[in-house]
Amino acid sequence: MVAASPRARRRISILGATGSIGTSTLAVIAERPDDFEVVAVTGNDNAAKLAEIARAVGARLAVIANPAAYAVLKDALAGTGIEAATGDSAVVDAAARPADIVIAAIVGAAGLVPTMAAIEAGAQVALANKECLVCAGELFIAAARRAGPPILPVDSEHNAIFQALGGHAIDTVEKIILTASGGPFRDWTVDAMAAVTPQQALRHPNWSMGPKITVDSATMMNKGLEIIEAYHLFGLSGDKVEVLVHPQSAVHGIVAFRDGSMLAQMSAPDMRTPIAHCLAWPERTESGSPRLDLAALGSLTFERPDPRRFPALRIAREALAAGGWATNIMNAANEIAVDAFLRHRIGFLEIAELVEETVARAAGLATETPASTEAALNLDREGRRIALELMQARAGLGIAS
Ligand code: NDP
Repeated sequence: MVAASPRARRRISILGATGSIGTSTLAVIAERPDDFEVVAVTGNDNAAKLAEIARAVGARLAVIANPAAYAVLKDALAGTGIEAATGDSAVVDAAARPADIVIAAIVGAAGLVPTMAAIEAGAQVALANKECLVCAGELFIAAARRAGPPILPVDSEHNAIFQALGGHAIDTVEKIILTASGGPFRDWTVDAMAAVTPQQALRHPNWSMGPKITVDSATMMNKGLEIIEAYHLFGLSGDKVEVLVHPQSAVHGIVAFRDGSMLAQMSAPDMRTPIAHCLAWPERTESGSPRLDLAALGSLTFERPDPRRFPALRIAREALAAGGWATNIMNAANEIAVDAFLRHRIGFLEIAELVEETVARAAGLATETPASTEAALNLDREGRRIALELMQARAGLGIAS
């Protein structure tokens, strides 16, 4: 047998290196540092942490989006030979630097332009930033087709589906199942949910993640975003994307094929596994994640989500059916609403209410799927404006807390 020739070091850039996915990516790289070379790392505010990361991995470029944080980054990297830069356009430049893989892990619609730049530069994009697809999925998929390499899903459920599909054509698939932990309020009554505090919503039972996605998990808007993400990534209509609540978070996704076979992917609820899958694809590498102990788990349970307590799922399905304009507006409104909830400006149940009202209001103004990144960004701004206006109106009426 002839020994396989060693693979060249893979050049990696990490957009959102200071966040939760960024941290997990760095942990996977640390498992096999000789296999990877870090080209660029980016952050938004946390310049001290970004400088520490850039030094630790020997990145060539570190970019902090917020100019107010640049002085800290520049000072911390002085004399290291690591290039420092700031501003949104510098983040885009970092994304477009020649690299084999770009980890797209900026949170929210802020990741749209840099992620698109990475795709257009021809890098293999490992996508965590699901909001990109919800804002402008048609544009992303078209750009990825033009550029060549497929988008690799980092999101654990979509990564599971990608693995379970195993290269089968999508017309062999009857449906896919995305699992949801159900979040911290899976068993709570509506009345109890009305009084939920940000601290309670930020305590996820199974996953450790950034604040926005943790709140999205609690409202189940995260699963709504993921239905739309699956539609774009796999080309499956919404009615073929089922959601089941699976509190153990051991099975992440299931593909049900035409012949009755169901293939599931399982792993401990730790993002290092899907990230390692993307970093090594089509091969495999160590992730450093804990192993599932099935005997210790004992049983795996699945149940349908309760649409009354978790309206975000219905709202997302309706937006998907309405078209790209509606998913874009829904995402913008959700970003505003989650931020307002975390700042104690609206209640937990008001997140979904505000999102639904914003999409309904926008329906009178826009019904076109954005045909360019600029159009997607304009629509996103419009969605934010409407959501803020509705929030102010609620506060004026004494509805918002
Ligand atoms: P975090 O909040 O932990 O990290 C977000 C990252 O984005 C940070 O590096 C932050 O920089 C940076 N950032 C924030 N705003 C901007 C901006 N305006 N411009 C440039 N950079 C910005 O989020 P997560 O890591 O949890 O999530 C990242 C993405 O991955 C989200 O889209 C999420 O839905 C998705 N995802 C996350 C999972 C998880 O387990 N965490 C699982 C599946 C998907 P700074 O730290 O300096 O503010």
